[in-house]
Amino acid sequence: MSLLPSWVESANLPDCPFPLNNLPYGVFSTKDSDPRCGVAIGDRILDVQMAEELGLITLDHGPAFDVPFWNEVMEMGPETWAELRRQLTTLLAQGSEHQTDVEPMLVAQSDAELHMPFLVSEYTDFYAGRHHATNVGTMFRGAENALPPNWLHIPIGYNGRASSVVVSGTEVRRPWGQLKSPDQPLPAFLPCRRFDFELEMGAIVGMPSDGPVTVDEADDMIFGYVLLNDWSARDIQAWEYQPLGPFQAKATATTISPWIVTKAALDPFRVHTPKRDFELLDHLKDTGPMLYDIDLEVTLAPQGQAPTSLTKTNYREMYYSAAQQLAHHTTSGCPMTPGDLLGSGTISGAEKHQRGSMLELSWGGKDPLTLATGEDRSFLQDGDTLTLSGAAKGDGVTIGFGTCTGTVLPALEDPYKR
Ligand code: CA
Repeated sequence: MSLLPSWVESANLPDCPFPLNNLPYGVFSTKDSDPRCGVAIGDRILDVQMAEELGLITLDHGPAFDVPFWNEVMEMGPETWAELRRQLTTLLAQGSEHQTDVEPMLVAQSDAELHMPFLVSEYTDFYAGRHHATNVGTMFRGAENALPPNWLHIPIGYNGRASSVVVSGTEVRRPWGQLKSPDQPLPAFLPCRRFDFELEMGAIVGMPSDGPVTVDEADDMIFGYVLLNDWSARDIQAWEYQPLGPFQAKATATTISPWIVTKAALDPFRVHTPKRDFELLDHLKDTGPMLYDIDLEVTLAPQGQAPTSLTKTNYREMYYSAAQQLAHHTTSGCPMTPGDLLGSGTISGAEKHQRGSMLELSWGGKDPLTLATGEDRSFLQDGDTLTLSGAAKGDGVTIGFGTCTGTVLPALEDPYKR
């Protein structure tokens, strides 16, 4: 894959996350404009609401950009997704006859505030990273029973909360919950002491289904991908999750990156899932490369201090692709809708510096990390800023996701004291 040159010069720099090859979709506002749909190009954003109003973008089922979210484009289907990408590429390519018309529709990213790029209809979180599941299982159940017996046969997941999905930059308040220390006979209602992050990718469903779909059909239904931090309260989780699963431990917030990177932009980076211990049943079998080679990194910055890199890993570590997860999600007949968000599950690699949560990095608090500032960390402290970043890197081309960041605010004094 080679760089597609644009007349927006900043898009042609080798490390630019948003070259013409990428064209990710977001929602932005400026001091002069309300939130509206935009497309990142270099260090600019193309105002596609204005481009559509002035007739430079015309979609068959349009208008698509009279609302400040991307769900209407999703609902128009894969042919329209491809048509929009063709029109955007034509407008922004080097030598475009439209340059003079389009130039006034560009906004500097530094002047823009980014918002939720789509309305999240529902949110499901999976548990499909083998190293993560093995690490957590070893801590909670011992090395012999690390992976549950179903794990190698189906992508395990749970239905999460769409209402607490927030965009990068949103502050996240430390939750209160019912906790029970191993050395206490009874639970107590306290602020979470083991607040954590989870490094994940989010897949956004763009097409609806009403019945079981195949893995190939599921792949076609996916609109794009974002970075996702599934904030987790480990002490609330440890007490509440047996026998049913995560509930309040995962409900405080889930942060996503503001740019939806389309499947078309990621297509050159498709890779196969890892070698399998058991052949999957036919309805979940891999039918082609449906994972992506995306480098991921997490940094932690204590309040007012420089960040430390906590982990570096890659999305290709997943055992199941988002298409397999989505296919599995529909086997019961569960309908899927545009705006459904699927969390991949925590993405950890085999090595210690590739682990995607504090729980694993500090091994349940037994082996705290030392930050560049000299401070120790087992779990997140108030004022810590967590930043996820990700990019697929080709020969002279970077398909970047931007960042997914959030700062931990102190717990309220007592949420029931009014
Ligand atoms: Ca998770």
